[in-house]
Amino acid sequence: MRRTKILATVGPSTGSSEGLGGLLRAGVDGLRLNLAHGTSEQHRATLRAMHAASRQAGREVAIVADVPGPKIRIGPLVGEEVILAVDQTWTLDGEAAPGDARRVRLEVPSLKGVAKVDDPLLLGDGSVELRVTAVRPTSFDARVLSGGRVRSQTGAYLPRARTNTAAFSAEDRRMAEVALAEGIDYLSLSFVRDSVDLVAARRWLDKQPEGAEVGLIAKIERAEALKSIDGILKDSDGIMVARGDLGIEVPLERLALEQKDLVARANGAGRFVIVATQVLLSMVESPRPTRAEATDVANAVLDGADAVMLSEETAIGRYPNEAVGWLDRIMRATEPSFDPRRTRDLIRGFPPDPATLPERSVAAAAVALAEGVRASAIVTPTHSGRTARLIAALRPGCPVVALARRSAVRRKLALIRGVDARPSPTQGKIMDLRHQAIDLARTSGLAKLGPIVLTLGFPVDGRPTNLVTLVDPSEVAEGPTPR
Ligand code: PEP
Repeated sequence: MRRTKILATVGPSTGSSEGLGGLLRAGVDGLRLNLAHGTSEQHRATLRAMHAASRQAGREVAIVADVPGPKIRIGPLVGEEVILAVDQTWTLDGEAAPGDARRVRLEVPSLKGVAKVDDPLLLGDGSVELRVTAVRPTSFDARVLSGGRVRSQTGAYLPRARTNTAAFSAEDRRMAEVALAEGIDYLSLSFVRDSVDLVAARRWLDKQPEGAEVGLIAKIERAEALKSIDGILKDSDGIMVARGDLGIEVPLERLALEQKDLVARANGAGRFVIVATQVLLSMVESPRPTRAEATDVANAVLDGADAVMLSEETAIGRYPNEAVGWLDRIMRATEPSFDPRRTRDLIRGFPPDPATLPERSVAAAAVALAEGVRASAIVTPTHSGRTARLIAALRPGCPVVALARRSAVRRKLALIRGVDARPSPTQGKIMDLRHQAIDLARTSGLAKLGPIVLTLGFPVDGRPTNLVTLVDPSEVAEGPTPR
């Protein structure tokens, strides 16, 4: 099994049932809808199509809805894109009409004070760069220093227009309500500043009819977030290294170091971490990744990322399934060289939380036993997914098979490195669970590879996991499971 997970952004290239079916067959573990683009009706339709495709493919994948937060964007463009040439002037204004190569709307509540002559203006990933040359009360001009293709509603970075607003705005809540009604597993918050943003989003989610089970992903893309990362990790389920905007906010030459630091901190805190943006960008147009892209993915795997995300590659690219296929191959080829010792040291060095200490110790015991007997898998019945996460955080050498009764738990676990979540018909008495592990070992062929480590809550279902035991291949070979 591949351990590192693949999260694919769905867009015009993949939003149809065939497109989604293709991504699922190619092996994605999660589907992301970027709510920054499209209308509520389109969001509803895409989320429904995601659920339908996942049912049809018989694959439980995590559904992630990504709210845009206080990002400043340009408005729509005629034909969806323009090419800006070096030295030309582009006007940014408040007009509703779709833009062109002469002008475009800037999506801000007011243009007052957003720009001064000589301010930089960066578009998209920052490769298109302009400088403000004239400012008027209701518009301003900028000269193109570094030209290129600009897409409709792309992000605009203007230092003076930096909003001081909270990450989870009223508009985000409205979009999130639509997404929750269709069923999502994670809500991903853009431009998180600190844990206050996450606490507010968590409170709001807990009050929504379908919100309590939904996990929170903090996108790390503001310089301030790097300073508050410990609090952000504490109050989120996982983080995303959102390199697109982060690469504008921190000097580009430091981006790799910030990424490595974020992955290590998330690993240490036992939170999942997704590495995102421009992962296989050349595959928007080409069927093969570049050498640099293949190396970037391998480094994310070696650093300990849980998942890697595709954005334009699967949303608007010409080769979405091939991009997933390449991620899969690079990850599988790299994973055997991953050394878990650093991750484990980071976890050991993390300030202990007395509430989870017993379970963390049981997880460590399960991993130590699995490595001692060269187990083929750690099978862990899990009610909320917590035990499976704690075990997977230690990055054992074998897969973590999470037996969960609820589909929502299995879908959330789909983004956790090393976890293979499966339905559990019974979750009760110890012997039932033992028989279930034996059946699983027999039907999946795991028994041929070695013994299985099984974790349990003793004496009854509902107890925190407190028991670690072995299922020997000889038990599996003994014929039909006695009940
Ligand atoms: C990013 O900035 O890297 C990112 C993932 O954000 P977006 O939602 O714009 O894709």
